Amino acid sequence: MNYNGLCKLMKIEKISYKIFRSFVILTILLSFGCDRPEPASEVDNASLEENLEEVDLEPKPMTLPIVPPAPIIDKSSRVTILGYHQISDKGSPSEMRISVGKFRSQMQALRDAGIKVISFKDFFKWKRNEKPIPETCVIITVDDGYDDLYDNALPILREFNYPFTFYLYTDFLGGSGRTLNNLEVKELLASGGELGSHSISHDFLVRAKRKFKDEVGYKNWLSKEIKGSKASLEEKFETTVSSFAYPYGEYSDFLASEVEAAGYNSAVTVNGAKANFESLIFELPRYIIHGNNDINWKAGTSFGGLGGAVQIEDSTKPSKLPKVWPMPKSEICNRLPIIRVDLSEYPGVKLEEIEMKVTGFGSVPAEFDELTGILKWKTTRRLRVEKHSVYISFVDPSNGRNKSFSWPFVVNLEAFYLPEYSEKIKIEEESSAQFFQD
Ligand SMILES: [Zn+2]
Repeated sequence: MNYNGLCKLMKIEKISYKIFRSFVILTILLSFGCDRPEPASEVDNASLEENLEEVDLEPKPMTLPIVPPAPIIDKSSRVTILGYHQISDKGSPSEMRISVGKFRSQMQALRDAGIKVISFKDFFKWKRNEKPIPETCVIITVDDGYDDLYDNALPILREFNYPFTFYLYTDFLGGSGRTLNNLEVKELLASGGELGSHSISHDFLVRAKRKFKDEVGYKNWLSKEIKGSKASLEEKFETTVSSFAYPYGEYSDFLASEVEAAGYNSAVTVNGAKANFESLIFELPRYIIHGNNDINWKAGTSFGGLGGAVQIEDSTKPSKLPKVWPMPKSEICNRLPIIRVDLSEYPGVKLEEIEMKVTGFGSVPAEFDELTGILKWKTTRRLRVEKHSVYISFVDPSNGRNKSFSWPFVVNLEAFYLPEYSEKIKIEEESSAQFFQD
């Protein structure tokens, strides 16, 4: 070993010795700091003092490797996928049609029970170990593409700020007068909706096989139904279609493998059960919610000891709406209206216990006159969509219970371009103020 090598070795030894010595001192110091009985020490006080002088007391910045904290993924979460069809008051409630009031009360019940609504995107982030989701949560899906999804469900979903997935079958789209048109689909996408495919024809994809003479003919047809519908929806609406809903919930292992091969990341069935971390993603269970009975709703929203069954308000007896402006279901021209609500029927209501939400604005800072009981809010920017809804909740001082109601109104967007626009909105504002004696 040459001189340099020797020096290096000595240096290392010196450093090692210093580290060892500091360690001994630290151990001693730590044991002094505690109330424990003093351990037997081989170092006497004199050498301790001597060593203390050598210990560098200057704190040095600690350099720890920067590791982003890994999200804590609770794999025991349970997810209910709800499946709706029509949300409409046209025609009586059926297995496939739920009244608008009942749909709204279900959305409210989820909120009241503290059950979070998540998107399929969040669900897959959870399945990939990237993002935690609540212990119990719900995914909202709507099948087929009836225009009442846009007309009736969307204002409610917006009001609650719930994400949702809607499955369209392309033969239905833009067809009869009761289906979604392209503009409505685009607005659904812009409002937190995820688009999924529900095939082209909505035929039974498994049993349709017998209609074909050979395997090749069936497979070609199936490829159009699964892959073709995805490509056509993606092109038309410039979005990614990653989930498939089996028409009538009919599927097989073969069908599931075809859906996977077509580039989807999931497929939903109509098997009423909770989804969990282990669920097969091409056979996801789903509770179809019927408008004429609550069996699946109750099963889907009960999570055993966690949350419990969600109670639904009796939708036949909605809260009586007080005097409001714009009037329920009315059409207004003013795109900067003052929204007014007369709460004088509830004397003693406090401003801090009132919440007002407006489509596109979320919670808004309404003013409340405790003397007259008039709540009002002037819109702060022009209303840009046709359909709006206002949601009010407050604590009723007579019984301490939460009370809420909502109503829709329509904005005539074309009126803005009419020469008599300013005249029209002046008349509107005057009659509103008169109506409220404001
Ligand atoms: Zn369907």
